[in-house]
Amino acid sequence: MTKTAETVWNSCLNFIKDNIKPQAYKTWFEPIVPVILKGDGLTIQVPSKFFYEWLEEHYIKLLRVSLVKELGNDAKLIYDVKMENTYSSNNAHTVKFPSSNRNPINSQGVTVPLGIDKRELRNPFVIPGIQKIKIESQLNPNYNFDNFIEGDSNRLARSAGMAVANKPGGTSFNPLLVYGGVGLGKTHLAHAIGVEIKDKYPDKTVLYISSEKFTQQYIESVKNNTRNDFIHFYQMIDVLIVDDVQFLSGKTGTQDVFFHIFNHLHQNGKQVVLTSDKAPVDMQDIEQRLLSRFKWGLSAELQAPDFETRILILERKLYRDGVDMPKDVIEYIAKHIKSNVRELEGVLVSLIAQASFNKKEFSLSLTRQIVDKFVKNTKREVSIELIQKVVSKYFDMDVATLQSKTRKRHIVQARQLAMFFSKRMTKASLASIGAQIGKRDHATVLHACKTVDNLSETDKQFRKYVEELTQKLTFQ
Ligand code: ADP
Ligand code: MG
Repeated sequence: MTKTAETVWNSCLNFIKDNIKPQAYKTWFEPIVPVILKGDGLTIQVPSKFFYEWLEEHYIKLLRVSLVKELGNDAKLIYDVKMENTYSSNNAHTVKFPSSNRNPINSQGVTVPLGIDKRELRNPFVIPGIQKIKIESQLNPNYNFDNFIEGDSNRLARSAGMAVANKPGGTSFNPLLVYGGVGLGKTHLAHAIGVEIKDKYPDKTVLYISSEKFTQQYIESVKNNTRNDFIHFYQMIDVLIVDDVQFLSGKTGTQDVFFHIFNHLHQNGKQVVLTSDKAPVDMQDIEQRLLSRFKWGLSAELQAPDFETRILILERKLYRDGVDMPKDVIEYIAKHIKSNVRELEGVLVSLIAQASFNKKEFSLSLTRQIVDKFVKNTKREVSIELIQKVVSKYFDMDVATLQSKTRKRHIVQARQLAMFFSKRMTKASLASIGAQIGKRDHATVLHACKTVDNLSETDKQFRKYVEELTQKLTFQ
């Protein structure tokens, strides 16, 4: 049988497949297209320069061994890089450069040094006449690594963030997904990464954006018929930081556009940083293909800080504000406020304010009062407003959606649950509940309560909603 590019490449793939993880195979080898076989040289087409560099860096040995098996000791591999022009996608062209193993493949498997001339590779990207557009980073310089206190609870996420900042797009933490509960420092860390990159690489385009704002922009762009501009804008960015991606849940249009932007950035070796209040496995209503992208890099959790870290965070803040506070007061706060750094700071601010307004000392009794108030506040009586917030958050929608007129099933259900809990947990009348939840009348609320009662008896999933929401509303 005569060998063709396809047959040779397929044999190589069989060998490669057996030697790497399925995910890696899928990501890095499935997209490759064999192009031509000329003597001992096989040309393969790869989707981007980044792709090519990745193969050379991570899989060159494997490629070499498999090729030698097929084509003998003089085997050569030539890459055909399909360059997608960033500025106009119908202008794709091809640039060829040989693999670093263009020298005859060494059968001992010794790695041939990567003799790639980077300048040569960059050339195709220099597009005459087009300059990089200056993009405001939207970063908050007060959120930096210096004042992000390290502790066991955040060590992994913090170091991964540092690594990414040192080498944006150049680590396997791409995307870096930082997840964790409210007030644990996701936004702070996300900014810190951006700030550090801007500091180290002033020429890189960094953009911080919340996923809500991203969604709004996208919707606007569809309205104004500028969807392509929107996409192109995001594809030009070197480091894209998207905060709170859980808000993309259920928004299929936005997810779709984000998927394409993500792929483009990733394939071109650009860095993506994401934050979320949940681990990818727990995200609901996010498309599978997007979730699988989220899992490509590293997911690092921010946990609630331990006692020592809480003390350090407090001390750091006091130092910065130039305030002296007795040790026992600091410890009292750290001991009682455990699960939210924002609250920790809140107590401190109140305490400082109280003490200075009333010319009081930082006494333990004053501290106790304030901490008590904070702790009580978090256990305050539930209001209809709060119920709507908790229910919409639970279903990953915003309150406006919950209140809207839509008849989509999952939104109707969320609305009915909000009505049900309002009836059960507040003293408000049916009419007043209806008025506050999207201006419905009392009959609608009554109907909702009955529906929830019925469904929780007959539908297991629904019962789980009721139970979990009860938990959340009782212990929030
Ligand atoms: P999230 O986005 O997770 O809800 P934030 O990033 O907004 O939380 O953090 C809440 C507050 O706590 C911010 O003021 C932030 O500066 C502070 N904070 C969180 N973690 C740390 C930390 N490790 N060191 C110092 N400050 C922190
Ligand atoms: Mg945040």
